[in-house]
Amino acid sequence: FAPWDDPTAKPLIQFKNVTKRFGDFTAIDNLTLDIYAQEFFALLGPSGCGKTTLMRMLGGFETPTEGHIFLDGVDIGPVPPNERPVNMMFQSYALFPHLTVWDNIAFGLKRSDMPKDEIGDRVEKMLKLTQLGKFAKRKPHQISGGQRQRVALARSLAKAPKLLLLDEPLGALDKKLRHETQFELMDIQETTGTTFVIVTHDQEEAMTVASRVAVMVDGTLSQVATPDQIYEAPNSTYVADFIGDVNLIEGVIEVPEKGAAKDAVSIRWSSTETPINATSDLGLAAAATVHFAIRPEKVSISTEKPEADNVMSGKILDIAYLGNISTYHVEVAPGLIIKAQATNVRRMSRRNLTWEDHVYLSWTDTAGVVLTS
Ligand code: ATP
Repeated sequence: FAPWDDPTAKPLIQFKNVTKRFGDFTAIDNLTLDIYAQEFFALLGPSGCGKTTLMRMLGGFETPTEGHIFLDGVDIGPVPPNERPVNMMFQSYALFPHLTVWDNIAFGLKRSDMPKDEIGDRVEKMLKLTQLGKFAKRKPHQISGGQRQRVALARSLAKAPKLLLLDEPLGALDKKLRHETQFELMDIQETTGTTFVIVTHDQEEAMTVASRVAVMVDGTLSQVATPDQIYEAPNSTYVADFIGDVNLIEGVIEVPEKGAAKDAVSIRWSSTETPINATSDLGLAAAATVHFAIRPEKVSISTEKPEADNVMSGKILDIAYLGNISTYHVEVAPGLIIKAQATNVRRMSRRNLTWEDHVYLSWTDTAGVVLTS
């Protein structure tokens, strides 16, 4: 059981009906959310949706206008930032340029009343954890951007906070280093068991590192779920479209045939003859307007007509070659394009599909989701 599926598990953090207003602008709107100990929790959403505001309230840099935030069951509203068992790592890292890596990591510990040898032990432990041992005596300008990022991380973990807040922590790194560092972050999070909450607007990053992702829009939560649930079973067209590539097909529910399987629905798509067969447990009534969402890689493409639950024919209009895969844009009705993705491993042994080819697209009943909002 993951803690979020266990009704007896106690969350580490609880937002209860939290609203944050700046003047008459509502940045966070009556938000309720539980985050569990040892989670790597990602807040994801477009610019301005309230991610940073939510995180700053956890850190104590903003106070809720309404509602309460609990940490380990205690209302942390009145607790000032420096008295919370919470640390925040900023995108700028804010390292002291005149201090060595060692002293940067030790900085916060020295300001506490921790004995000197314990400080030494902690710093050494952090250097090891972040593989910075060899750089201990260097100053920030003598190390790389990725190494500076690790110093900032080591410094924020040195006091062993219960909760570490990371605001776009990898934003300053180039793509390759960013990918490597994501895995390092995951390792460090697992090793220390510290709860991480990360703000990012990079979908891939959230999906890679997080135990769960909260997709936000306009100060509210659209969906809170594991990365694969968010990808495979988005709860709205907004989430489906925000994460990864998707075909969104609007249609109207038809009464399923007598004897059809439970949960079977048939969607009459305005622009084609053939209805789409799908499954849904939403108990949809006939004539309801819905969207059918299907990922391009769930749509098979072939030159021969296949046996499948759903088959549509069309013409290839565009091909995006991406190395390991290609995405095909197939017009199945005038002006209606479905994207299909296929791996390129067998490219050598079969005739390559090309522009203007007549092809069949197919998928199973359960390959997509039916969405009502
Ligand atoms: P980004 O990805 O661009 O950092 P975000 O999702 O983190 O965006 P927030 O920084 O949380 O967004 O801001 C949410 C909204 O609240 C924005 O519209 C912002 O302009 C507004 N806002 C944030 N702080 C203040 C403030 N101190 N005064 C007034 N408005 C604010």
